[in-house]
Amino acid sequence: MKTIWAKTALLPTGWASDVRVDVGDDGRIVDVQNGAAFVGTAADMLLPAPVNVHSHAFQRAMAGLTERRGPNPNDSFWTWRQLMFRFLDRLTPEHVEAITAFVQMEMLEAGYATNAEFHYLHHRPGGARYDNIAEMSERVAAAAAQSGIGLCLLPVHYEFGGCDERGLAAGQIRFGNDLDRFLTLREHAISALTTLPEDTSHGVAPHSLRAVGKDTLQSYNGHFPTGPIHMHLAEQVPEVDEVLAHWGARPVDWALDNMGLDARWCLIHCTQMTPQETVRLARSRAVAGLCPITESSLGDGIFDAVRWMDAGGAIAIGSDSNIRIALSEELRTLDYSQRLRDGTRAALASPELSTGRRMFAEMLRGGAVAVQRQTGRIEVGYWADMLSLDTDKQHMWGRSGDTALDAWIFAGDDHLVTDVWSAGRHMVKGGEHTARAAIIAAYKRTIEALKDAL
Ligand SMILES: [Zn+2]
Repeated sequence: MKTIWAKTALLPTGWASDVRVDVGDDGRIVDVQNGAAFVGTAADMLLPAPVNVHSHAFQRAMAGLTERRGPNPNDSFWTWRQLMFRFLDRLTPEHVEAITAFVQMEMLEAGYATNAEFHYLHHRPGGARYDNIAEMSERVAAAAAQSGIGLCLLPVHYEFGGCDERGLAAGQIRFGNDLDRFLTLREHAISALTTLPEDTSHGVAPHSLRAVGKDTLQSYNGHFPTGPIHMHLAEQVPEVDEVLAHWGARPVDWALDNMGLDARWCLIHCTQMTPQETVRLARSRAVAGLCPITESSLGDGIFDAVRWMDAGGAIAIGSDSNIRIALSEELRTLDYSQRLRDGTRAALASPELSTGRRMFAEMLRGGAVAVQRQTGRIEVGYWADMLSLDTDKQHMWGRSGDTALDAWIFAGDDHLVTDVWSAGRHMVKGGEHTARAAIIAAYKRTIEALKDAL
């Protein structure tokens, strides 16, 4: 058993002082006491550590390589995607493991305890399967063993190159599986997780309405009756137009009418919704998986979080393209996007809660639902997923409770994160991951090998 003692902590009942948290050897919280004497590992401000609900780990190694204007005068998500396809054609399983361990390390250092990996790079360049069909999934699992992050592996089902069920383009060939082969791959991928700790989990991810057949999507709940299901939805205008042209409805309306969306579903982006779609989807109880930094980077559009949250919709946060791993900045970008659109301030605050507190609380709640993990609360029985902030840093002087959260999110950055526990694994100490040197060395070799990939 281990004990953490915090000067202040955010408990389900609110802020508390002198909090002692006991964590069992299984990684779950066994006792929480207020007003306790100091014992064990000291923390300043202890918070539940959230889930990063959306990541394509390999894309971390592309950061900085796609900021030049290409031959097309209108650079966009779609020209970026072509570069991403070119880049991934160079990746070996060893590269993927090194990059994934690195980005998971950065996620932990930023304050995330859990990572849902939306994993679609399955096959060899050219599309032939590896001898072990789940080779790449094994590499993601091996990375999680190094980083100690709580992994929710989401093997991605990717079958077609568009809504007309055209074949995959050259850059997509490494993703492709029909439903039968996907089921086989998924079984093997699940087996790859058995060596990881007990909090490890899995789900499935039909890539998007463009990438899986209409009939298969309509029966997805039946094919996968338990566990989380994540899918990209309504990210870009051309995607809306394509679904409308082929299937006669906008993507969110089509998904609501045909897929049985509920709290098992996490829909990623949803940056292209009408007000009516926003309210309908929010009421379905599906979680909106928002990736504000990536959505800014790719020019996806602005998610209507004000309308969504007013309608009771659940949100979670992901880092998607991983161009930058920064938990506080994801939340700041989310609220700033609403302010810029609406000409307001404190867009996502409620009458009771400050902006930072409400976004943080909603992210914890939605993230737990999205990966079906008992997390997001410092409470007996929950996984000990926690982070500690340094209250001695200048951004935090004179701040406490909700204003301290606001100061971290709007004035500070993730350097304020001193310690992170994932299911009780104390992976970040003094702001640094405990296996930092080895993970960085492998990543540096990988980056050197890939520096001319674009
Ligand atoms: Zn994505």
